[in-house]
Amino acid sequence: MSRTTSTEAPRSQAYFREAQERTAHNYHPLPVVVEHAEGAWMTDVDGTRYLDMLAGYSALNFGHGHPELLQVAHAQLDRLTLTSRAFVHDQFGTFCAALADLCGKELVLPMNTGAEAVETAIKVSRKWGYDIKGVTPDSAEIVVATGNFHGRTTTVVGFSDDPDARDGFGPFTPGFVPVPYGDAAALEAAITPSTVAVLIEPIQGEGGVVIPPDGYLREVRDITRRHNVLFAADEIQAGLGRTGRTFACDHEDVVPDLYVLGKALGGGIVPVSAVVADRDVLGVLHPGQHGSTFGGNALACAVGTKVVELLASGELQERSSTLGAVLRDRLEALVGKGVLAVRTRGLWAGVDIDPTVGTGRAVCEALMERRVLAKDTHGSTIRLAPPLVVSEDDLHWGLDQLEAVVTGG
Ligand SMILES: *Cc1c(COP(=O)(O)O)cnc(C)c1O
Repeated sequence: MSRTTSTEAPRSQAYFREAQERTAHNYHPLPVVVEHAEGAWMTDVDGTRYLDMLAGYSALNFGHGHPELLQVAHAQLDRLTLTSRAFVHDQFGTFCAALADLCGKELVLPMNTGAEAVETAIKVSRKWGYDIKGVTPDSAEIVVATGNFHGRTTTVVGFSDDPDARDGFGPFTPGFVPVPYGDAAALEAAITPSTVAVLIEPIQGEGGVVIPPDGYLREVRDITRRHNVLFAADEIQAGLGRTGRTFACDHEDVVPDLYVLGKALGGGIVPVSAVVADRDVLGVLHPGQHGSTFGGNALACAVGTKVVELLASGELQERSSTLGAVLRDRLEALVGKGVLAVRTRGLWAGVDIDPTVGTGRAVCEALMERRVLAKDTHGSTIRLAPPLVVSEDDLHWGLDQLEAVVTGG
């Protein structure tokens, strides 16, 4: 660790100390203080450049400062930003139609954060259960998976099995039934006449890029259809190009009843999330039953429409798939050399570090010293999710740094 870390640089150190002193410590950030960024590169307040291998947990799939997204955002800022949903603005219908079409669905309900979209999916599923399926009032059940991550609201952390996410925040909302992730038989066995939905991530991102066994999503689709239960796919991190397809469910040609979207939907500029479904599902909501002051605001819709447009050609998905093969090959070559296992899909990887090399955190700190920014999850796993616009050379360079760290080179 002979290199100069960013916190030894004077400006970084001052900004970092101020930030730590004046915020709740609900995060444990790496000591790097970013000032500006472009594409896959971020520059700190002392002028040091870092390759971004996290991309805001996939919120920055299109990279920092994507020119077309910035242009749309600047233009919209000067025109109109917010009306509330009490009135309609000219960007609203365009965005809803574009996103619905991308998903092959009829309707869109826009919110802001991912957790709000998950909450929306839960409310819609329950309402559908009571109004359409005929479930006994206040008895609806939603089947969820172990190892899940769906956000940070009290309802959502109530069905997490991560003690950090959950402990100290009860009492929790009832009505959630956990089953082992990837086990279709266990999922089917958990379904009762009160079950209204199955809510799962097609790939568990926070869990460490955990990919379910082949055919699992198709089985979940068959089981939910057979039992008249909604299939809600939380594609907030996995969707919108990250895995090499528009949606992670596309890898099994599965179409869920509800797409739950967020992160990259805001183009890395504003928080934009949404639930996308057909009329027979989202149609259960009537005026006054759900809402959000900022949900579907004009700036969010203008950016979101451009995001959909950027995805419509399939070019970025293709890029994610092609670069994903590079990522996979390079990482698989490290198994047995400081790495225990890797899981990849598209430009997304979970890398299990050999404990003799160090913790995930220690590896991320060593990467930072080599000007690569990544994030550990669950102790010994590192998640790699560079912007989909990263160049192949830069990706190789970033992986050279990882290789050097884990092999002690
Ligand atoms: C990030 C994430 C969320 C929560 O999104 P926020 O915008 O942080 O509220 C929900 N589900 C999944 C799968 C996520 O990755």
